[in-house]
Amino acid sequence: MTMRLLACERCGQRVLIEKFSAAHTSVQWTGDASRCPVITARGRGMGHQERGCEVLHRTIDRAVREQRVPESRIELPIGDAIPRLH
Ligand SMILES: [Zn+2]
Repeated sequence: MTMRLLACERCGQRVLIEKFSAAHTSVQWTGDASRCPVITARGRGMGHQERGCEVLHRTIDRAVREQRVPESRIELPIGDAIPRLH
């Protein structure tokens, strides 16, 4: 597990990101996502937090492109070993 702490360039909300492959980066909020003005402006609804904030996504994309986020090599858990996130 190699987590990187990134802050949204716009709202400063911090998230932990972990990159598993070029197509799979996991994002974990360290604070309250509703404090991000972009997410709050979108209103509460299905997936309002999951879709996150575009500025944050751009911040993450750039960090990944600039290779500031090392790729994690993981063994994918199977069956009962799959962690429940919520
Ligand atoms: Zn934001």
